[in-house]
Amino acid sequence: MADEDKQEAKTEGARRQGHCLCGAVKVSIGGDQTHVGACHCSMCRRWSGGPLMAIDCGTDVAFEGEDSIAVFDSSPWAERGFCTKCGSNLFYRIKQGQSYIMLAGLFDDIDGFSFDSQVFIDEKPDYYAFSNKTKDMTAAQVFEYYASSH
Ligand SMILES: [Zn+2]
Ligand SMILES: [Zn+2]
Repeated sequence: MADEDKQEAKTEGARRQGHCLCGAVKVSIGGDQTHVGACHCSMCRRWSGGPLMAIDCGTDVAFEGEDSIAVFDSSPWAERGFCTKCGSNLFYRIKQGQSYIMLAGLFDDIDGFSFDSQVFIDEKPDYYAFSNKTKDMTAAQVFEYYASSH
């Protein structure tokens, strides 16, 4: 994904723009990517300081300022990107297929975002709970889901 020749194939709706805290990294995702999910696993909580709130965007993601992105190899199946200048966390990327789960907090244009799923709900600590009505999956359900559909 180079800066200039980034794919403009998707045309449904305007793309949503986002950026890290310092602005060195700019991101855009398809305008129809509106489903925010939370992950309560211990790795996401350690990485983000709380539940990870993010949007599964598949491969429809474009970046500017890629030289300011560092990637941490967090597990055999995924890696996590962050801005080297300000430390903002940017994405969780599944190695197989290079699909992106983008952090919801990066985006300014949040019209239509809906928080509708929570994963690793069985790893959620007791000190917080969301009141949103969501589809919840335990760790075992998540692994079963990905094993059967990916
Ligand atoms: Zn930054
Ligand atoms: Zn997680």
